[in-house]
Amino acid sequence: MSFPSFFSSTNRSADLATTENTIFDLIVIGGGVTGAGICLDAASRGLRTLLLEKKDYASGTSSKSTKLIHGGLRYLKQLELGLVRETGLERAVVHRLAPHLVVPEKMLLPLIKGGNYGKWGTSLGLLTYDWLAGVTGNDRRQMLSREQVLALEPLLKPDDLTGGGYYAEYRTDDARLTIELLKKAITYGARAFNYLQVEDFLYEQERIAGVICTDHLTGNTRSFRAHQVVSASGPWVDGLRQKDQDLGKKHLFLSKGVHVVFPREKLPVRQSIYFDVADGRMIFAIPRGQVTYVGTTDTPFSGDPNRVLTTRSDVQYLLGAVRATFRHTQLRESDIISSWAGLRPLIYEAGKSSSAMSRKDELFVSERGLISIAGGKLTGYRKMAQRTVDLVQRRIHRKGYTPQPCQTGQIPLGSTNLLTKPALSHLQEQVEQRVKSRHLPACMADYLVHLYGPQSSFILDSMSDNDEPQRALAAAEIRFGLRYEQVTTLADFFVRRTGMLYFHNERIPVIREVVTQICQDTLQWSQAQREDNDRELDQLIRDATTFYTTEQLASRAHE
Ligand code: FAD
Repeated sequence: MSFPSFFSSTNRSADLATTENTIFDLIVIGGGVTGAGICLDAASRGLRTLLLEKKDYASGTSSKSTKLIHGGLRYLKQLELGLVRETGLERAVVHRLAPHLVVPEKMLLPLIKGGNYGKWGTSLGLLTYDWLAGVTGNDRRQMLSREQVLALEPLLKPDDLTGGGYYAEYRTDDARLTIELLKKAITYGARAFNYLQVEDFLYEQERIAGVICTDHLTGNTRSFRAHQVVSASGPWVDGLRQKDQDLGKKHLFLSKGVHVVFPREKLPVRQSIYFDVADGRMIFAIPRGQVTYVGTTDTPFSGDPNRVLTTRSDVQYLLGAVRATFRHTQLRESDIISSWAGLRPLIYEAGKSSSAMSRKDELFVSERGLISIAGGKLTGYRKMAQRTVDLVQRRIHRKGYTPQPCQTGQIPLGSTNLLTKPALSHLQEQVEQRVKSRHLPACMADYLVHLYGPQSSFILDSMSDNDEPQRALAAAEIRFGLRYEQVTTLADFFVRRTGMLYFHNERIPVIREVVTQICQDTLQWSQAQREDNDRELDQLIRDATTFYTTEQLASRAHE
């Protein structure tokens, strides 16, 4: 298996030096899924592309979603047929491109007396949903009786249950999807750097011509030049539009969404469920390996987008919803083993609640040529990228460059070839055998296949025989991350590359020392840098597991 250079954290300063001397066609600001999708689309159409991310890739909203590749059933109710059709169709495309990472997930929609969805409305709604998304065969929706619903999910309270809908969606890992998009973009000649924050713009004859950045790893200032600049900075889009002194007529509205994670045995749902909450909203419970996660909330947010926390009232809301829906669950705050909170960068619509605001994306072009993309969904990243790069291509007048059609529908992620279903099953079997022979817990096979896909064989090959299995696997993973996935901090590895903070946090104390030592040796950290990394990871662990009241948070902000 061959991997691209230019995505290693060890060559950073040399790579940056050559990058500063290049004039790019396109600079993309923001390494979330939107920016990563644009970067791949542009590079694969032959545009010289540079992506800059102020923290780590996917450290914004793109590691905080519900992690569903879905059409968004509730948008059907809001009559957003175009959005549902586009995202619905995209599900199958993204699954085909990364079948290890975007996996089919049947969704159960229990119908209850007085709930959001009635029987006939749901039947028609799901039929329309399938039709818009071109769903065929066994994946088409089924309507279930009350008894069938309880047989599928005995944990549901039977009291108000009247029946259910059963339909097809897909589950993913948002941060891994982002990183695989970037890795693929690098193979097409793109360059990408994390920890480079765009502070201002360069202009030539009143047209945008590049960016000025702070390098957070060295404190240096760096400039990069390009013919076009796209800001895909999610919740930070308006901040950059302000720097360009052109906020336009529309602006962002930030809405916070929280998820909490329980050990699977505490909330042993058999499958994913989309259920009613007493206030008229709907939330998901999604089993994933050894855990079940529940979310999300939807509340207006006006704090610091760089640190979004789960509050006690978020937790109480989600716990209340779970207790009202499932039997035998006396879940308490102390049962929560992790959580995440993210911001939806919605386009503001006067008079609408955040739940009712559209999830559609929009492109804005400023007076001096800054292109900003806002809104949208993880699921629609590819189409958003296509629209953005179509626009960029129309604005590029470089001699010798001919605009190209979008190709990303044919570019596999996480592998050099499109993985067929039998090839994926074969990979799963192989990894299961190797995990067993290495005396690793059986659940590590799923972990490896869903995270790394075909690259898991490479990671298993690099495991040392002379160490305890968990430590040996972690050592192979971190070496892979440093060399091929631009891991630069402990948090990059434990949060964004592996999702361990959310889904396997029992592994962190076991492997933390070995991972830290390899990072220190490879990246030549001083003792102070090691301590900074430790502090940042400790803080993130605390943020994911400690829940303050809003008043406590306000008083802590003044400390
Ligand atoms: P972000 O991921 O926030 O990326 C923007 C990046 O820009 C950040 O990494 C940031 O650090 C960087 N940046 C900002 N300023 C600068 C600067 N000056 N210089 C350099 N870099 C900068 N969608 C789905 O399809 N399915 C779901 O299940 C789903 N669930 C969701 C649940 C919640 C709770 C939320 C909040 C959203 C959900 N979404 C879902 C929506 C989806 O997550 C977002 O649409 C998507 O992740 C947004 O990605 P982005 O790249 O635009 O923004």
